Amino acid sequence: MQIKFLGTGGAFDIDYLNSAALLEFRGMHILIDCGFTVFTALVNKNLVNRISHILITHLHNDHVGSLANLLLYKRIIEENERPVIIYPSEHFKNQIYRFLEMQVQDPDKYVEFVSMEHLEGVTFVDTFGQHSEGFQTYGYIFEEEEQRIVYSGDLGNPDILFDKLTKLPPLNTHVYHDITFNAQNSGHTYYKKLLPYLNGNEVFGYHCDPTQNPSDNPIRLVFYEKSLLA
Ligand SMILES: [Zn+2]
Ligand SMILES: [Zn+2]
Repeated sequence: MQIKFLGTGGAFDIDYLNSAALLEFRGMHILIDCGFTVFTALVNKNLVNRISHILITHLHNDHVGSLANLLLYKRIIEENERPVIIYPSEHFKNQIYRFLEMQVQDPDKYVEFVSMEHLEGVTFVDTFGQHSEGFQTYGYIFEEEEQRIVYSGDLGNPDILFDKLTKLPPLNTHVYHDITFNAQNSGHTYYKKLLPYLNGNEVFGYHCDPTQNPSDNPIRLVFYEKSLLA
């Protein structure tokens, strides 16, 4: 299992591109989120044809803004097989479907939908309302061999996610967590809220402007970990 980020910024941190990652997992190449800078990054890095599966954390534009471009490109330019969108719930599948319908008319022409319950080693954490009021968001947990990778998605409070992790059998766990350095920002996780969870987990922050990183923050930022960047 290997994760490489295509961007690590927040919605307005243009210099650091939208947070998204490519995950090699059980023979699949999963794109996690496809915000408005992601399609360009994938084309520039010659990675579009590698993507076999797509997983979306939520429908904000910095997470799905170039999803339709990607699907159109794969069909029209690459003439590849349809990629698979893995969905955690029927309700979220319907939201993604309606979102794509407005842009490509017939989403089934471009993409296949497969429920997460048919895939081994990946589960979701329902974080509804924890990023934005009344808004559906998900975090995801991947396990392969002796390794666990956790991807928070946009999340204002880390407790649900880490509660779930403490109930799982111990494994070498890397948590990639949304982070903010502004205590007033309730839509994202203020770094001090992550401090109680650093024992037993390797935690990396993303979805931020790394130049704002306070000197007392012990959490490593994905942006500075070259081995984690695509
Ligand atoms: Zn975001
Ligand atoms: Zn968001």
